[in-house]
Amino acid sequence: MSDHNWEAVIGLEVHAQLKTRTKTFCRCSTHFGDDPNSNVCPVCLGLPGALPVLNREAVTMAVKAALAFGATVQQQSIFARKNYFYPDLPKGYQISQYEKPFSTGGAVDARLEDGTIKQIRLIRVHLEEDAGKSLHTITEAGTAVDLNRCGTPLIEIVSEPDIRSATEAYAFLYRLRQTLLYLGVCDGNMEEGSLRCDANISVRKKGTKEFGTRTEVKNLNSVRGVERAINFEAERQISVLESGGQVDQETLLWDADRQVVRSMRSKEEANDYRYFPDPDLLPLVIESVWIDDILATLPELPEAREKRFVKQYGLPEYDANVLTATKEVADYFEETVKLARGTEPKKVSNWIMSEVLAVLGDKNIEITEFEVKPDRLAVLFELINKGTISGKIAKKVFDEMTRTEATAEEIVEKLGLVQISDEGSLKALVDKVIENNPKQVEEYKSGKEKVFGYFVGQVMRETSGKANPQIVNDLLRKALS
Ligand code: ADP
Ligand code: MG
Ligand code: ZN
Repeated sequence: MSDHNWEAVIGLEVHAQLKTRTKTFCRCSTHFGDDPNSNVCPVCLGLPGALPVLNREAVTMAVKAALAFGATVQQQSIFARKNYFYPDLPKGYQISQYEKPFSTGGAVDARLEDGTIKQIRLIRVHLEEDAGKSLHTITEAGTAVDLNRCGTPLIEIVSEPDIRSATEAYAFLYRLRQTLLYLGVCDGNMEEGSLRCDANISVRKKGTKEFGTRTEVKNLNSVRGVERAINFEAERQISVLESGGQVDQETLLWDADRQVVRSMRSKEEANDYRYFPDPDLLPLVIESVWIDDILATLPELPEAREKRFVKQYGLPEYDANVLTATKEVADYFEETVKLARGTEPKKVSNWIMSEVLAVLGDKNIEITEFEVKPDRLAVLFELINKGTISGKIAKKVFDEMTRTEATAEEIVEKLGLVQISDEGSLKALVDKVIENNPKQVEEYKSGKEKVFGYFVGQVMRETSGKANPQIVNDLLRKALS
């Protein structure tokens, strides 16, 4: 924020679509991208007399997420109807939770840029169903409605207003999304809408205790978008207040194309929705044995895994953070270390961070789609360890491996890349290089140490990079002294 007298106060509301196969209260498929209005039934269309039946898997996933954030799962919670009219909500209400959500408390440990952890507390997590989609641009005739998404399970995660800057909001959302991905309960795709975020924003003079009037910004469809929108809105509120005006409590829309907020409506109050317990659904009872079962299935979470990587493999924090960014990259690392016995974990880490991640970026693929699996990479390390190839040649071999199915050994064989470690033939080359470069020898002997690299380079050139660099160095030193 440009003005240092002010401070932003931010609370985020995150909607995460759960990756169940079927919807929350009926057995329609949740599959994304099917023909419009093909995955619908009397229940999710809200036809009179149709009764909802709760999907057990949706509850399991929701509880899993809540437990991962250290929240308290309530043994009894209530589904409520949130009433409003909208074309993509045929029932005229959304089944949600209001007074008694299934989860309260908990926190997200956001990792700030300097590596420190800021705990951002959660108010609640509740389970609800999604609405359909209004499509404003697919037909000339007007707006079309696709109800396939109607009834898809969501969890809404509501933070305390503990966030103090756009960067902290970014860190919160990053860790939240990363955790949901580790759990496998949400695919975290903000562009496709499977993870959505609304930001409540107010500003206050630094040092004041009370919160200012807040606005709510919607339509944030990327993690970076959230950061930008918060900065924009906080600056806007500051300039309103500085020029003597006051902030209206309203709901705003983020316009990502123009990078500004637009007014959407004045803020609705909870009582506008006429919440009441859904008479078609029993209270949701989550017995403690069920909670224990789910607790037992929790995977190691990002922060714990990062710490373990530092301890177990002796990696710098930076490496551990990069490698645990996704569960899949972390698995790839551990699998490679296990298979490439005797290879320093730090070497494996360097290789993944520079070579592997670069190729993934170039090809724009996920590590799970990468053809060089840990077992293939491990063979490459073995060849380096045995001295069959040098680290430099290994890059060439790796490059070839990303384009063929051949093993590292086959490539080394086929391209004749075996490292030359035979002292006799290298000695002959060293002598030849010295003989052919009398001027450089003169320079070296008169104290120009740098010329040494030139000789190494010449020998490497003669062998197309295959000479064992350690032996070449030793031989050169001897010959030149
Ligand atoms: P509502 O039900 O009206 O949306 P909540 O109390 O549930 O209100 O809060 C919604 C979100 O707004 C929460 O994430 C909370 O942290 C945040 N919030 C509440 N007050 C403020 C404020 N003054 N400034 C910024 N965020 C706020
Ligand atoms: Mg709200
Ligand atoms: Zn249905």
